[in-house]
Amino acid sequence: MITGAKPNIVQEILELKEKKNATLLAHYYQEAAIQDIADDIGDSFYLAQKASKTKNDIIVFAGVSFMAEMAKILNPEKKVLIPDADAACSLADSCDPAEFNDFISQHPDHLVITYINCSAEIKAMSDIICTSSNALRVINSLPEDQPIIFAPDRNLGKYLIRETGRNLLLWDGVCMVHEAFSLDKIIQLCEEHPRAKIVAHPESDERLLKVAHFTGSTKAMLEYVVNDAAPEYIVATEAGILHQMKKEVPDKKLIPAPVSEDNTCACSECAYMKLNTLDKLYRCLLHETPEVTLSPELAMQAAKPLQRMLQY
Ligand code: 13P
Ligand code: SF4
Repeated sequence: MITGAKPNIVQEILELKEKKNATLLAHYYQEAAIQDIADDIGDSFYLAQKASKTKNDIIVFAGVSFMAEMAKILNPEKKVLIPDADAACSLADSCDPAEFNDFISQHPDHLVITYINCSAEIKAMSDIICTSSNALRVINSLPEDQPIIFAPDRNLGKYLIRETGRNLLLWDGVCMVHEAFSLDKIIQLCEEHPRAKIVAHPESDERLLKVAHFTGSTKAMLEYVVNDAAPEYIVATEAGILHQMKKEVPDKKLIPAPVSEDNTCACSECAYMKLNTLDKLYRCLLHETPEVTLSPELAMQAAKPLQRMLQY
């Protein structure tokens, strides 16, 4: 039964979800309690695939705004909710649509490949969207003489340049969570844990990626830790991923990568991702707000490069 008081908020959320024919999609960076009741949990690409196939009337996206927007772009006729509408993304915010429009206008011969961590406006100006799990495949599928702009993440961009040997023109955006890791402290940790392997997300600084044993999307990092034989790992991405890792490999030692001292937060948590809580999720399902809305024209323009990615 649904009441004002919430003695068992999890049960109430599950009942609301059922009653309203809603599906709950959650990113690995969400708090553990939300991950545990999600219908699907994954990285940006997996969640985009799930959002594109859902039959439910309502999608509740427990992630940040660009992810919920992506679900709306793929499902313009469905109601898409996000528990906290202020859940933004420092990387998406580092790419202003007017400035980006100027930038791409100066390079009309370039194909615009854009990382999914960007606004619907930026997606609408792009040729193909990619995520950290398919960016290499997307770039490698293009003719070698094709000039390419890659935006907005400069660290992922530099990683792609190293891996593909291609000369990508980069936008200078960055994720404040992945920039905060301290290479010195990580190297010190490696000395204390000689059997540990470093797994890192490609949004991290290139000096860290150069020493990492594995670089990949959140889902790829999880799979690596599950399938690899090492007993210990230093995990350089948002700390929420550790919840699924601990479930999958309870006997392995998982060490969150330390951040530098001048970072305002001592841990590697994304403050935007953590704005979503069980309580906000409950209220969001109950009142069906905050709802993600986009103009039909913008949604249609942004859908084209997103659909190209899903067809890869
Ligand atoms: P993934 O595509 O690996 O899920 O990463 C999303 C993200 O926001 C990383 O900071
Ligand atoms: Fe954006 Fe970084 Fe948070 Fe990912 S971790 S949602 S890129 S701010």
